[in-house]
Amino acid sequence: SPTAPPIMANGHFAAVGDQSDPAAYEHGVQVIDENKEFNPNLSKYLSLEDVTPAGFNYHLISVFGSQSTGKSTLLNHLFGTQFSVMSERERRQTTKGIWLSKNKKQAENSEADGSRMADNILVMDVEGTDGRERGEDQDFERKSALFALATSEVLIVNIWEHQVGLYQGANMGLLKTVFEVNLQLFLKDKHTTHRSLLFFVIRDFVGTTPLKNLQNTLLEDLSRLWASISKPAGLENSTIHDYFDFQFYGLPHKAYQPDQFVAESNKLGLRFRDGHRDPKRDALKGEFSEGGVFLPEYHRRIPADGFSHYAEGIWDQIVNNKDLDLPTQQELLAQFRCDEILREVMIGFDEAITAFEDKQTEAVRLGAPEVLGGLGVAMRAARSKALKNFETEASRYHKGVYQRKRAELEGKTDTRLKALFHGQLSAAHKSGIRDFSDSVSAAVKTGQKKGGNYDFAEIVNHETKTSLEKFDEVARSTVVEGTSWSDYKQELALYEKELAEVSARLRRDEMRRLASRVERWVQSRLGESVGLEFNALGSGRAGGGAPENGEKPSEKTFWDRVWNLFVETVLDAERRFTDRASSFDASLEEVDVGLWRLRRKSWGVLRAKIEEEMTEGNLLLKLRENFEDKFRYDEEGVPRIWRPTDDIEGIYTRARESTLTLIPLLSRFRLAETSAPPPLDRWVGHTPSSATPADEEDLPPIGGVDEDEGKSLEEEMTILGDAKRQDLTVRFKKAADGVYVEAKRSAIGGMTQ
Ligand code: GDP
Ligand code: MG
Repeated sequence: SPTAPPIMANGHFAAVGDQSDPAAYEHGVQVIDENKEFNPNLSKYLSLEDVTPAGFNYHLISVFGSQSTGKSTLLNHLFGTQFSVMSERERRQTTKGIWLSKNKKQAENSEADGSRMADNILVMDVEGTDGRERGEDQDFERKSALFALATSEVLIVNIWEHQVGLYQGANMGLLKTVFEVNLQLFLKDKHTTHRSLLFFVIRDFVGTTPLKNLQNTLLEDLSRLWASISKPAGLENSTIHDYFDFQFYGLPHKAYQPDQFVAESNKLGLRFRDGHRDPKRDALKGEFSEGGVFLPEYHRRIPADGFSHYAEGIWDQIVNNKDLDLPTQQELLAQFRCDEILREVMIGFDEAITAFEDKQTEAVRLGAPEVLGGLGVAMRAARSKALKNFETEASRYHKGVYQRKRAELEGKTDTRLKALFHGQLSAAHKSGIRDFSDSVSAAVKTGQKKGGNYDFAEIVNHETKTSLEKFDEVARSTVVEGTSWSDYKQELALYEKELAEVSARLRRDEMRRLASRVERWVQSRLGESVGLEFNALGSGRAGGGAPENGEKPSEKTFWDRVWNLFVETVLDAERRFTDRASSFDASLEEVDVGLWRLRRKSWGVLRAKIEEEMTEGNLLLKLRENFEDKFRYDEEGVPRIWRPTDDIEGIYTRARESTLTLIPLLSRFRLAETSAPPPLDRWVGHTPSSATPADEEDLPPIGGVDEDEGKSLEEEMTILGDAKRQDLTVRFKKAADGVYVEAKRSAIGGMTQ
């Protein structure tokens, strides 16, 4: 025989043994104790019994009946439970409060056709009423009936055969309570089809009176009872059949017919299967279902994972004598459970997502945005898993609450996923721009190494395409389908825009590089050609000319030749520049600015070349050469051998004066024809309107071109100042004098020899 239940200290469930130890629940769990306290360990028990994840796939049965009518014994036989039963010798009340246990016979109790007991049957053994110990205490009877009706699908009414027909008996009192309490529930819960099955198990059924007759007697009594109770307004004409279905079963005497008792118990147990309503059958006769007793309409629709919380709430209302409002209780339960499920689901979501969030935050903090691999997959998986898990569990609860909480969950996940998505786009943007710029530069460098004949425009186009594809790929792989925020058109457009800006900047750089190359070319060309012109000055016979008039036209047009060389060289350079620049898609404005800069810089190159040639030493040397050439050679270019008869002085004076004319000539850059400075201002042209400050920044000012510089074109074209000219004149004359003296001496010397 089963051992005694664990001793319960008043209301202190937690103090009794280890409540998470399955051994603590040998007799099931005491849901309500004799002090009407609800046991907080109910949920633990349901978890241990693996009922919690069952959803709606569980069933609740309560047993009712007078004290010591073998209720616990019956349940133990039907469901393999171990509810305490009264020992034959003591005859004392054993079941106290309400006990609950899971069916232990589900697996073993099956028929040949494969039909077996329903899954997860939970049985509540309710303390018997009208017990000797409780006397006239109707309070607990009422409360436990209310509790059982609010939760159970099937109420087993345990009754002795000899009690049938005893209308005044204790059982009728109990049933009256059940009916009243049921109506009470219906007042608040009019919209739910709240049906229950009253399953009469007639004990010590002898069989002399057929079960059918007992059944009729009972149904008649119940109808009479129903008629006698006062019904709330609107329900006056209702019948018990509006709320209850009935079934009957006779069980033989356990002690006298032990074998039959066991056999019939097993047969009866098999009735506890899932069933469905058969419209052809007659409910009034107790025939209505096909299959087992559990019709879907009996189910209270409380998901298994919310059952203990719901039961506790219900009991709390009952025990405090509050009106039991099931819809409200269900809504409260939904809120509680949906919140709980939401929190659970968010734990899984956090596990999948937090690492990415941390990584992204850290990368941003370090200023090194990083495209996170696997982010899209993780986000999609985490989101759908969270929503699916939430849906699976929470959708069983009150629809309105569920939908509200689902939206809340979606808000929570999506706020974070959206931030991650945008972080990813931002990282793709930043690293993409950086990579693009690097790639273009690298390709240009390679092109330069290979001889510089690369197509800049093609490089930029190719890298732009690659870059856009990469961005799109990252964005696409991070999209979370079915969300409104997973759109990146705008970001893509922004990215494309910045690529274009970077391209323009790189093209400007490329233009600069091209410009420097062309400038260097100008420099070397001018260095050579202008150098030759200056060298020619050293020869008094340069360019050939009429010696008679003592003036050489070639010297007079020196600057014209320099200017022409300059203009032609730069024109050539401009052609080179334009050709190359147009090959990399530079705009007309960009080319204009480039040419304008080229002209200005070229002028600088020429100016520097002139200055180099005209340092005092260089110039003095040239003047001296020029003079000696004129003095020492005759018109045919034959060196003179001075004789005393020669007009050395005359020749000297002419040569010296001729060379001296070079000083004012060289002092100013002037064209012979107009004796005005070359039209440098017109030649350079106006600053193009598209030139940026950056374009002008590194350009030295040019007198007469940049008006606001306060320097005139005249000044720009002045190569030697007055002081230098005078100094040069004096020094040249001294040098010339030396040559003259030397010539004089050699003439005399020649004579003496
Ligand atoms: P409960 O108080 O209704 O739960 O009754 P119990 O299951 O504790 O049983 C009360 C007493 O009735 C025990 O002494 C049982 O042995 C006895 N009993 C159990 N089943 C039967 C039965 O089928 N017929 C009779 N006459 N006695 C039974
Ligand atoms: Mg009992």
